[in-house]
Amino acid sequence: MLQAYKYRLYPTQAQIPLLMRHIHACRFVYNHSLEQKIRSYEQNGKRLSCFDLNNQLPTLKAEHPWLTEVNSQSLQYVNRNLDNAFTRFFREKKGFPRFKSKKNPVQSFQVPQHYTVDFESNQVKLPKIGEVKTTLHRTFTGKMKYATVSVTPTGKWFISILVDDGKPEPEPAPFALDTTVGIDVGLTDFATLSTGEKVENPRLLKNSLQRLKVLQQRVSRKVKGSKNRKKAIQQLARCHEKVANQRNDLLHNLSNRIVSENQVIAVESLNVAGMQKNRCLARSISDASWSTFFTMLEYKCQKYGKTLLKIGRFEPSSKLCSTCGYLKRDLTLADRAWVCPDCGTHHDRDINVAINIKKFALQDQNRVGVSGVERTVEPVDPLPLGRRMKQEAPHFRAG
Ligand SMILES: [Zn+2]
Repeated sequence: MLQAYKYRLYPTQAQIPLLMRHIHACRFVYNHSLEQKIRSYEQNGKRLSCFDLNNQLPTLKAEHPWLTEVNSQSLQYVNRNLDNAFTRFFREKKGFPRFKSKKNPVQSFQVPQHYTVDFESNQVKLPKIGEVKTTLHRTFTGKMKYATVSVTPTGKWFISILVDDGKPEPEPAPFALDTTVGIDVGLTDFATLSTGEKVENPRLLKNSLQRLKVLQQRVSRKVKGSKNRKKAIQQLARCHEKVANQRNDLLHNLSNRIVSENQVIAVESLNVAGMQKNRCLARSISDASWSTFFTMLEYKCQKYGKTLLKIGRFEPSSKLCSTCGYLKRDLTLADRAWVCPDCGTHHDRDINVAINIKKFALQDQNRVGVSGVERTVEPVDPLPLGRRMKQEAPHFRAG
């Protein structure tokens, strides 16, 4: 099983420019290769492979001698990453690979091999850079794959080492109604579980939002290119980093708890296209939190042998009675609670949605994704959704 271990790095003042050079060079090669790939395809319909692009590296180095100061394996790895980005684009219908900007909040480069970790002296030795001080707060055993060195906007350096411990991934648990939890994410509450539990949006984030707004205003009032603007940008970056750290801490705690308490977790996939249009700060932070939360659920499920089920966006899920399947068409966004006219159940809007998500996810044809190994599930009758919900939800057993 693969697992990443992340440590803080403390490079010396002499090492920082070297590390930065690696980052610049990798971004430069990435953008150059992406351009080559696009041009070659447009001009003669030829798809350049990772191998073709690596063969161009010596010419590129001759044109830009500063590239020779950088670990050449890191540069080759860039082309491999680009290749993977294209594979994801073609096979998984992910977005077209984009050019990398030096304004991206986190900048990084990869070291595929020939780096060493010394737990005794708390040092990592990187090719072309040398021994860098670090805090190896936990040990690992297994085969070291590639390492990623990154820097945050506030100048903190990290190394993330991918380790293969050689053990197989645990078998995912079978689906069953009583070991599955449905989760609905929202703006009012961060998450609502089908068990009726509500997880509030943390208050400390709300306070930080106000502070972010003030700091953002300060930046925009300073003269472009001035020293004061640089200072203001640093302050804003520090605040953003604090918010992100607080948020990640909460998300780790929540996802750990949900994964440990349940065998199967059902979520509705997020409307990614709608997210990018959003310019409201509170909203964009929530969007980012949900994505991070789902990613955490996914890898933690894999690690602990649990299953994550994803269903597509399903609009009427809030209007459907989770007890009898009645569709209340006139339910508005303002209705936080309602009573089913058919069976008389009192519904909390969000809890009802979470229960519906759980029920839909247990039915084969509603799922758009499953983490872990998919189990045989009972065939579902062709009745329309609303009617189908009227029947007793089936129990699923291991195939
Ligand atoms: Zn009902």
